[in-house]
Amino acid sequence: MPSDSLHLRQFASDLPGPHLLITGGVHGDEFEPMAAIRRLIAHFDASDALRCGRLTLVPCVNEAAFLRGHRCAGDGLDLARTCPGRPDGSETERTAHRLSELIRQATHYIDLHTGGTEFAVHPLAGYVLHPDPSILDTQRAMARAFNLPVIWGTSPALEGRSLSVARDAGVPAIYCEYLGSATVSEAGIGAYVDGCLNVMALLGLVEPRDTAGRVGRVIEDATPGSGHMQVQNPSPIDGYFTPAIALGDVVETGQPLGTVTDLTGADTRTLSAAHPGIVLTLRTFPRVRAGEMVAVVAHL
Ligand SMILES: [Zn+2]
Repeated sequence: MPSDSLHLRQFASDLPGPHLLITGGVHGDEFEPMAAIRRLIAHFDASDALRCGRLTLVPCVNEAAFLRGHRCAGDGLDLARTCPGRPDGSETERTAHRLSELIRQATHYIDLHTGGTEFAVHPLAGYVLHPDPSILDTQRAMARAFNLPVIWGTSPALEGRSLSVARDAGVPAIYCEYLGSATVSEAGIGAYVDGCLNVMALLGLVEPRDTAGRVGRVIEDATPGSGHMQVQNPSPIDGYFTPAIALGDVVETGQPLGTVTDLTGADTRTLSAAHPGIVLTLRTFPRVRAGEMVAVVAHL
């Protein structure tokens, strides 16, 4: 590692059917996805549970970033802003190209994430509000089957992501988030394994599963830029962030989200919610630079 090809495992049934691609580690500091996909590999190694179709599992797309212990590889490009990439480009552009080719070969796609080192994200399954109604319906069904507490459909206009490639290729796709903060929660690994098996059952790849529904909130927001987390609620100064709210809280306009203070405490700024909504992402790594996001509040 890192190599010039993605480390992946493929499982195929003798019967034709959908080809599901599941990826983790698009960002190198998001660990539950990698652990969950390794667990899925062990599961399918130990049994011939695939009833039809094909399954491609990639525990860590961005190996260079993983080895650095960072979100991004050494060229500093965010892989989720670089797709579809280039075969002759920088390290991240080449990874984006390889990932994009894999996505185009699939019939369905799940991309697993977390908030990485600096953020925690409320467990959710998301998709873009695809202009093709049949693709959008499939994405809604996949997100509901994945069975995390929040479903978040957002603007289809975002570029550079794995889901942008899927959108353009007409491949129904969802992404998922589960906490982060550079920890590894067993609950997150379990929820991701379960969610992936639930979507496989929906597609007929595995036996139907008996699962109690846990989806509590479905949010669809076609506002341009919705789903672009990094631009929301930027800190006005370099400093130390102390949150005043928790993940999943419902906030009013003007409600304090937290404070950013300089190192001596002489300059303290309060960040307030610009609109009402639910807190889906929260900075958990206290150091924040001016312009960086401290929280994402999604419109309800
Ligand atoms: Zn990510």
